[in-house]
Amino acid sequence: MNVPLLDLQGQYQELREELLSAVTRVLDSQRFVLGDEGRALETEIATYCNTEFAIGCASGSDALLLALMALNVGAGDEVITTPFTFFATASAITRLGARPVFVDIDPLTYNIDSDAVARAISPSTKAIMPVHLYGQCADMHALIEIAELHRIPLVEDAAQAIGAEDAGRRAGSMGAIGCFSFYPTKNLGAAGDGGIITTNDPDLAKRLRTLRVHGGAVEYHHVEVGINSRLDELQAAILRVKLTHLDRWSDKRRENAARYDAMLKPIDGAVIPFVRFGVRHIFHQYVLRIAKHRDALVTHLGDNGVGTGIYYPVPLHMQPCFLYLGYRQGDFPEAERAARETLALPVYPELSEAQQRKVVETVVSFKKD
Ligand SMILES: *Cc1c(COP(=O)(O)O)cnc(C)c1O
Repeated sequence: MNVPLLDLQGQYQELREELLSAVTRVLDSQRFVLGDEGRALETEIATYCNTEFAIGCASGSDALLLALMALNVGAGDEVITTPFTFFATASAITRLGARPVFVDIDPLTYNIDSDAVARAISPSTKAIMPVHLYGQCADMHALIEIAELHRIPLVEDAAQAIGAEDAGRRAGSMGAIGCFSFYPTKNLGAAGDGGIITTNDPDLAKRLRTLRVHGGAVEYHHVEVGINSRLDELQAAILRVKLTHLDRWSDKRRENAARYDAMLKPIDGAVIPFVRFGVRHIFHQYVLRIAKHRDALVTHLGDNGVGTGIYYPVPLHMQPCFLYLGYRQGDFPEAERAARETLALPVYPELSEAQQRKVVETVVSFKKD
């Protein structure tokens, strides 16, 4: 029995008819960009995330870029974020000529350390970008307090956290702007690239709608220089079908995680995910910490047909393209340790109990030298 890290076939086979009819509907309409499907999805996502507005765009990376553009982030500005995230979080900042100011993570949740954020605030801080890593919200209570004290907007990178909650509030509804990705492997995945931006601020919503069409509020009349970043109708129609199943899938992920917790807890040296009190963790990833021999365990699992992932092997302050920022090895010890010690196990909704048992048995059978 093989257990891949992620298998999208099960989900597709279950929804095949629904998806094909949605795709046919779009093809029959011959309307491909900024039409009814996209508008309907925006309304449905805004409702789902409990925000006033949602604005579709071409990817999660573009969502982050557009969010920072709408907040006028530019040269000379600083944006505080985590070094333990997907590359796009920080590249959105540098693309605008601003400087990512990294701070270390909380070793329990792997999310940004809010005390470290407070210490990093400077007169140049233009935004704070927490990432809700693996599907668990960052400590938004503390972060909102810091943001309000200094009147600095929060941009939530919620690419891995659609439907996650912190104290009953949905990811993407707590900061000034929330950014989501519909990359196929995300919990709500399109058949290609896609993204969406949430906000409660009507001015920001209006600005974002302009920025995604080259800064033209009226076609061919450009009030500012934006980018071309829309969510197309085919993707929107597919996502509308999948959205109606998302809560069921998230519940399955949570069940799978709870089952792993029970089976893995007794294993010496394996640290199961820590879930903060009051958080609805949607387990985009189920991440285990192994203090020693992580790479050998990954090889052992792979040799026995169990897929794993490492998110992320190199913290962003150590990426060659960011060396110019002047950070050094040792600057963020917890991020660096997490990069060495963590691995993700398969947790997708269609995973069977037998498959989970196989994963755990393979972890247990690992003999280090
Ligand atoms: C996936 C992801 C993104 C980027 O989304 P794309 O749609 O792939 O551009 C940004 N941030 C995080 C944390 C992600 O996981």
